[in-house]
Amino acid sequence: MKLILLGAPGAGKGTVAKLLTKIDGSVQISTGDILRGAVAAGTELGKQAQAAMNAGDLVSDDLIMGIMEERLQEDDCKSGYLLDGFPRTIPQAEALKTLLEKMGEKLDAAVEIDVPRDVILDRLTTRRTCESCGAIYNTKSNPTKVEGICDKCGGAAVQREDETEEAISNRLNVYNDQTAPLVGFYKNEGLLLSVDATSSDAVIDAIQAKIGQ
Ligand code: ADP
Ligand code: ZN
Repeated sequence: MKLILLGAPGAGKGTVAKLLTKIDGSVQISTGDILRGAVAAGTELGKQAQAAMNAGDLVSDDLIMGIMEERLQEDDCKSGYLLDGFPRTIPQAEALKTLLEKMGEKLDAAVEIDVPRDVILDRLTTRRTCESCGAIYNTKSNPTKVEGICDKCGGAAVQREDETEEAISNRLNVYNDQTAPLVGFYKNEGLLLSVDATSSDAVIDAIQAKIGQ
């Protein structure tokens, strides 16, 4: 399947994407993961993105479109993709539309995962991410066995630099200002599926019901 996952930071886009990859072999493409990888590797891309990311601001549309034009043409995308964290602005959505037309491809849906703000704030401040393998934990609902140490690889499970209260509240504002308008954009395109996300499984069920896979 070819899906866009829309939703505020902490809505569970990444979790849903990971579950969906197991259903039909679609690949998860997370622009956040790609950018964090570039920052960790100290590449030119990482250097350009780092300051905006730490502050919870968006990196430029040009930078993101450069990454995604290449990524969407890689072979593993032929079996479908789950776009997690992209597009994030109306210009990115427009550019994606043009790109897909050029490639002769159609999206199945843009899925809006709707989670109340207080739930999101709580989730993000308690989230811990492994610096080495990217595994995600939660100090309340899914803690590591040993505090601060990843169960899977022994790496450091830490609070992301953009998961301080201040950066989180900025990311939520950025989402409301720049990304929430995509809901209207995809509604116009006839692609919108809005799901009240009580659980990731409920989101998966709604997606399967809609696109029939
Ligand atoms: P979130 O948990 O907020 O959904 P992501 O992991 O998707 O976070 O992204 C982390 C950061 O990477 C964002 O705050 C932003 O700085 C940058 N980023 C990721 N995707 C995009 C995008 N499509 N456009 C602009 N910036 C992006
Ligand atoms: Zn790990």
